[in-house]
Amino acid sequence: MDKKVRVRFAPSPTGGLHLGGVRTVLYNYLFARSHGGDFVLRVEDTDQNRFVAGAEQYIMDCLKWCGLEPDESPEKGGPYAPYRQSERKHLYYEYAQKLLDSGHAYYAFDTTEDLERMRKELKKDEHSVPQYDHNTRMKMRNSVSLPADEVVKLLDKGTPYVIRIKIPDNVTVKLTDMIRGEISFDSNLVDDKVLLKADGMPTYHLAVVVDDYLMKITHAFRGEEWLPSAPVHVLLWEYLGWKEHMPLWAHLPLILKPDGNGKLSKRDGDRLGFPVFAMNWTDPKTGETTMGFREMGFLPQAFVNMLAMLGWNSGTEQEIFSLDELVAKFSIERVHKGGAKFDFEKAKWFNNQYIHHTDNEPLAKLARPYIEAHSVKPTDELLEKVVGLVKDRCTLLPDFWAQGHFFFETPTTIDEATIKEKWNEQKQQFFNDWAAAIALLPEWNEQAIEVSFNEHVQQKGIKKGDVMLPLRIMLVGGKYGPGVFIIAEVIGKEETIKRIKAVNL
Ligand code: GLU
Repeated sequence: MDKKVRVRFAPSPTGGLHLGGVRTVLYNYLFARSHGGDFVLRVEDTDQNRFVAGAEQYIMDCLKWCGLEPDESPEKGGPYAPYRQSERKHLYYEYAQKLLDSGHAYYAFDTTEDLERMRKELKKDEHSVPQYDHNTRMKMRNSVSLPADEVVKLLDKGTPYVIRIKIPDNVTVKLTDMIRGEISFDSNLVDDKVLLKADGMPTYHLAVVVDDYLMKITHAFRGEEWLPSAPVHVLLWEYLGWKEHMPLWAHLPLILKPDGNGKLSKRDGDRLGFPVFAMNWTDPKTGETTMGFREMGFLPQAFVNMLAMLGWNSGTEQEIFSLDELVAKFSIERVHKGGAKFDFEKAKWFNNQYIHHTDNEPLAKLARPYIEAHSVKPTDELLEKVVGLVKDRCTLLPDFWAQGHFFFETPTTIDEATIKEKWNEQKQQFFNDWAAAIALLPEWNEQAIEVSFNEHVQQKGIKKGDVMLPLRIMLVGGKYGPGVFIIAEVIGKEETIKRIKAVNL
């Protein structure tokens, strides 16, 4: 029987969750769901220097908002707990020791100054990359370059050390990637990465391999930026004797800037005015808040659908997929090799589509905070009605205010300039009379109001087209909004009359 599919999202809690990270979550999630597998959230917090308080909770909240919740996580627990690497610290030394014993790792005693000196010396030689590798290893202070008795002495004295992997020279390290196929790496270009730090904490490289093994991960999806680390991981799987358990890898394409080349960064978002993080992120050190898709007014379903299409397609023209449909259709082999350019206009198009197709009741709940932010508190009935009337004109949730504010408040600015030029005594008289007439209307609904308006137009011998725009400006304040008679119905008779009377040019 095949092994149960187990995938993981393994973020380091260092800040806001980039949309590329959410896409990695999504592809993991879809793969797990479509194979009846488990989706694990593992927090890779071994780098204390990059640790940011609150980032882990924020990541979990983002996953909740997106509806992509893991089956196992630090919060939920699970059969392979703990899921936070800092809490697994005691587990890793044993494996580092195993690598030392088999000669695939070594102690390195170099101080920060020693390392600095190596970098400086190497930089003098234009052709070398300043790194700790087969070229430089013997010039440094480690258990490969020093005599055995000196190593013992240093260890006995408690000299601080790190443990490094010993990358072999002249070897081709091979990896079969689910998206890219066969990839080869020249081991001569790979450095002797630190596996265990002086404080006993593993680095990402050791921890990721040990945990993927211990947690029985079968498929590992991560961003393309991790490709250069892949040969180190492949060698570790081999050296630890676990090669046949190594997960199948898929390195996902980058999400690129809309203009130019390169990975989409938070700076691009700031520069071009769109979010890059899933939700608002406040840096605890600087207090600076970076806007998220959620707060900008995206529906999580639209955000997720948009991300699914950023690097994958179903092979058809279809672009709108529910999460269930994605689970049914998704296949990792259809993920593109090349980077996908982020297109904010397209992202907004997805949101508009979702707003259009969402029922008024849930939509009103989503729009409510954006309406109440303007100090009005409509009833559910009114809000649902308004949402239904204006939703096709809304792209982002705050648009519900811009497109519908006049249902909740008397417009504060009236675009009189638009009607002033063609205004005359006859039109003024028409509105004065019609305002008096509608006060007596026995029924107040869209049809009755329109019938009364049409009758009045005929009586006065005025063109309907000449008074429709003025009526809209009176009720709405500007040249927008749904049908003017339904607006009159919803705001009510008294308010309609009040708004008509308020305009006197
Ligand atoms: N901790 C890594 C990160 O921050 C995970 C990379 C991987 O999935 O192997 O993205």
